This record gives sequence, C-alpha cells and structure tokens, in this order.
Amino acid sequence: MGTTLIFVFLALLCVVAGGVVISRRRAVFRMDEDDDFSPDAVEAATTAPEVAAGGLGARVRALFGNGVSETTWDGLEDLLIKADVGPRGSADLVRRVRDGYEPGSDPADVLRSEVLHVLGPDEELHLAEGKLAVILVVGVNGSGKTTTIGKLAKRLTGQGHAVSLAASDTFRAAAGEQLEIWAQRAGAHIVSQQRGADPGAVAFDAVASATARGSDVLIVDTAGRLHTKTPLMDELAKVKRVIEKAGGEVDETFLVLDATTGQNGISQARAFTDAVELTGVVLTKMDGSARGGVILTKTDGSARGGIVLAVREELDLPIRYVGVGEGPDDLQPFDPAAFADRLLA
Ligand code: GDP
Repeated sequence: MGTTLIFVFLALLCVVAGGVVISRRRAVFRMDEDDDFSPDAVEAATTAPEVAAGGLGARVRALFGNGVSETTWDGLEDLLIKADVGPRGSADLVRRVRDGYEPGSDPADVLRSEVLHVLGPDEELHLAEGKLAVILVVGVNGSGKTTTIGKLAKRLTGQGHAVSLAASDTFRAAAGEQLEIWAQRAGAHIVSQQRGADPGAVAFDAVASATARGSDVLIVDTAGRLHTKTPLMDELAKVKRVIEKAGGEVDETFLVLDATTGQNGISQARAFTDAVELTGVVLTKMDGSARGGVILTKTDGSARGGIVLAVREELDLPIRYVGVGEGPDDLQPFDPAAFADRLLA
C-alpha cells in the first residue's frame, strides 16, 4: 500500500514537472515567434545602445566612450559606411584615425583632421586666360546638370566674365529651352539647334561663335541619356574631340552628381571617368530638402552624405562645387574645412 502511494506520488510529480517544462519551452518558442527579425529591427537592437543622438561627431565620441578595443575600430568603420563614405574610403579613414589616435584625445577631432587630409585643399577654377576657356559638363539626366550650368554661368558673369553656353544636350525634351531661360537669367550668350541635332555640331558652332564674339568662357551642356544607338560615353568623348577640332581646349570637365544617390552615384561616376577625363565633381542637392544634405544641415542627425568623401576616396576626384538649392545663387565653391567642421560638429 505504502509502495503504491509512493509510486502514485512520484508519477504525479513527473506529470507536473513535465507540464512545467513544456509550458516554459512553449513560452520561449512563442517569444521567438513574436520577435521581429526584419533588418531594421535587428539593426536597432544591435546598434541602439551605442548610437548617440546627433551627428557623426557625437556618434564617434559615444563609440569611443567605453574604451578603445578592436570592436571600436570595427564600429567606426561601420559608422562611416552607414554615412555613405564607401567601403574603401571607410577602411582608409579608420587606418588613418588609428595611426593618429592617442588615448585621451578627442576621436572626432582626429577624424576631422583625417577627413580634411583626404579632401585636400579647395581648388580654384582653372580657366585659360587670353583665349576661350571651355568647361564641359557631364552627368545623367536628373542629376541637376542644366541647373548647375545656369548657376555656374550666373557666378561667372557676376565675376565679370563674358559667358557662352552650348546646348549640346539635344536629346532631352526641353533641355534647350531650360538652358535658354538660364542664359537669360545669367546674362550669357547661348548657341543651340533644334532637338535631335548632332551634339558635336552644336559644340563646334558654339566654339566658333563664342570665339568670334570674344567670350571668356564657354560652358558645354551634354546629353545624360541618348535615344540613338550610339552609346552615351562614345558621344561624350566625341563632343570633346569636336571642341578641340574647332580650336577650343577643354580646361575643366565636371561631372554633376546627385548627392542623394549615395553609392549608386559612385558607380555611375566610374562610367564617366572612362569616357572623358574628369577634373572635378559638382555635388547637387546638398540642401536640407534633399537627403544628401543632411550632413550639412543635420536636420535628422542621420549623418549621411559621406558621399563627399566617397567621391574623393573612391574616384580620386575633387569636389569643386556644391548645389544647395534650385535658385540661381544656390551654387557654392566646395569648402573642405567648413564641410569637415559640419560633418563632425
Ligand atoms: P539635368 O537633367 O541633369 O539637366 O537636371 P536638371 O538641371 O533639370 O535638374 C533636375 C531637378 O533637380 C530639377 O528639378 C532641379 O531644380 C533640381 N535641382 C538641381 N540642382 C539642385 C540642388 O542643388 N538642390 C535641389 N534641391 N534641387 C536641385
């Protein structure tokens, strides 16, 4: 009897214990099921404790706040990649900061110096003197090419230069008309032909006409997309050859890049560097209304806009101007020191 009671008691104990284990496992399983494994949620979970509010400078300081270890350097590389600096540029900057950092120094300050070093000094516009200077402007449709040419023309006429424009983007609907309006605003002379005309022929005429009227500078617009079988890059190389044939010499070739396109813009830029020898980049849409501008205005503290560094590091091209709006005066010469200050404020 006593043995039976003990047996029944033990059996009951096993059932109760088994139930507890099963219900706990279910709870764990349910918890897993309810978890959000979307990339955003995972990123928030893994980075939230380390990310401080504010710009890149604040984030870097927060990262170094817990002491410096291998994880800190990985974290810094991560922050830079997230700010659009690009893989090569980020690795290079981390190496530089690592070399220059000493315990107790301000990591944001060290990064600022290295950013400045990478960006190099600001560059003046290189224009031929005593003869017609030519600026060739290339970029994909929508990057802000026509607007940039208009603003640049306005700057140059404002400085007392006689400016001519060549409407060699004969493919995009209304590109010629848009440039005509900018020419009027800037007080510049314009050479254009009907839509679909040969871009090289327009450039040739423009060199002749600008030279004849004694212009100081000719700015040549080009197509950003073609509706013909000729590849765009071949066409751009041809326009450059035609300018030279007409007696012009291309002093500057600017690639207009939309800062909001991030790393895509870098791949895009590589195609252009193969076709024409670029002398610099104009980064447009760096104002607060566009995503790439957050680095300058820090409207949301997300600290993107490292595209400036990516252009320098990945393409080895200087940023010459930045577009900060759609108005005629919204083009500024790029100032590396001011940029580094704002980036790491
Ligand atoms: P294109 O096709 O490369 O000639 O581009 P457009 O010059 O026509 O510009 C495309 C759009 O971008 C237009 O709506 C412009 O007003 C706008 N845009 C150009 N530059 C800037 C800039 O610096 N800031 C902002 N916010 N918009 C710009």
